[in-house]
Formats: sequence, structure tokens, C-alpha cells
Amino acid sequence: MLHGERLYAFRPLVARNHAFFRKSWRVVLDSPKPVGLAEHQSVDNTAARESLPSLLKSIDQMTTKKKSPKARVVAHAKLPTGFGKFKIAGIQGRNAKEEAVAVFHGAISAQDAAKNGDSGSKFAISKPSKSTKAPLVRVHSQCLTGDVFTSQRCDCRAQLEFSLDKIAKEPSGVLLYLPQEGRGIGLINKLKAYELQDGGLDTVEANRKLGFKDDARDYEFAAEALKALGVNEIRLLSNNPDKVAQLEKAGVRVVERVPCRPRVSHHSRAYLKTKARKMGHILAGL
Ligand SMILES: [Zn+2]
Repeated sequence: MLHGERLYAFRPLVARNHAFFRKSWRVVLDSPKPVGLAEHQSVDNTAARESLPSLLKSIDQMTTKKKSPKARVVAHAKLPTGFGKFKIAGIQGRNAKEEAVAVFHGAISAQDAAKNGDSGSKFAISKPSKSTKAPLVRVHSQCLTGDVFTSQRCDCRAQLEFSLDKIAKEPSGVLLYLPQEGRGIGLINKLKAYELQDGGLDTVEANRKLGFKDDARDYEFAAEALKALGVNEIRLLSNNPDKVAQLEKAGVRVVERVPCRPRVSHHSRAYLKTKARKMGHILAGL
């Protein structure tokens, strides 16, 4: 009988013939008289019947793994902007929370991954040759108040504009926009934190009072989204060493950290000083 580990060696074959494989085992094991045996011959199927559930589970695990990438490009389109001509891609993960939008430009090796519904491997920014630099990438967390309403409580919109401007001037680059509002605590909780800050707390103290971590963001899906675009090596526009570490840990090589330092408004200076003092962001000279 095939053991799970031995079966692993047959993974490509099993993956291609998943339905047939399941059906064949059912037919053989459910048959009162095993196929291919003469009338007087008999076989004890007890052991095989007992191992069937685990065997089928192994097949399911192998085929599920192959069918379900951690992130895939599901839509893409042209996106002319005030900063230059970009393209935009919608990227989805394995659950409803895992979504991202990539605004990018540069040499693209193929365009039809979304239409074909594949993992995005054909939808790749060309791998930089030795003479070209890795794409410049900004991983930006959504901030409705800053990005849309131009709030000056934070520097999000300034960083967004600074990044799009920088990326537009590079041979290739990506702005990955993640819907993790308020450093991951959500829009309404962010507004509650603002209320506490109006009462005198700083951003970290307010998050803690509401029962959240200083920074609840997770960049594992961001790394998978970049890989779905074919981007495995980047120059990262960021002041946040934790972001660099998390992306590296998730398999995206950060060959250079490029400071993301737009002009600071006097409203956001106190917020940025807290980020530098309490969260390890690299923001010298504030
Ligand atoms: Zn913001």
C-alpha cells in the first residue's frame, strides 16, 4: 500500500489526476469483488479501507496547496495619474481580509494573468538585469483621513505623494496600497484614538488605552502580493525598520532602504516624533 510519504513523490501525477485518483480508490475499495480478480480469488481490503480517509486527506492537501496561491492578480488596467502613467492591479489573498491594490509602472513581461485567472506569474515586472536597479517600492497602509481628506495629523498623504513622484521617475516601481487603516486597528478605532489624542495622549498611548498594539500591521500578505507581481527584490521607500524585517522574513529581498521623507507639516511633527521615539522609525532631524 502507498504510504503518505511515498505518495508525496507522486505529487505532480496526483495533482493532475486528482478527481480520477479519488474515484479510482472509491471504485476499488467499495467494490464487493476487487476489479481484475477471478471469481475464486479474494482480497482483504480492510487495511486499505481504514487508511482511505488519511490517504484522501493527503491528496486533498497536496492538490489544495497547488491550486491556491497565497496571493494572485485578479484585475489590471491602465491608470494615468497626475504623477505619470501607471497601471493598477487588484490582488487578492486567501480570505476576504487579504486585498491590496498595486499602482506600478515599468517593463512588464506579460499582461494577461488576470484574464487567465492564474497566480500572476506571467504578470511580472521584468527581473532587473545586473546593470539595472531593483524596482523602487512603497508599501503604503490606507489612511482615509490623510490620503483622501488631506489630514495633517499624520504624514500619510505627504508620503503617498512623495512615493508616487519618486516611483514615476524610476525605470520601474510599485506602490502597494494595503487596506490596513490606522496601523491595522481600523477606521473607527483610529477615530477613537484621535479623540483620546485630543485629550492629551500620544498615538502609542491612545492605541494601548483602546487595547491595541502600537502597530498591528502585518506585512506577510504584502510580500505575497509583491511576489504575485513577480517582484522578489526591491528598494523599499520606508522609514520603518520593522517593515523591512517583516518583508525580508516573508521572502522579499530588500536590497536598499530609501528614506521616505516628505516635507513635514507642523501639525504632524509631534506624531512623527512619537513614531521615532516609541516605534523605532528612522526620522532624524525632525
Ligand atoms: Zn495617516
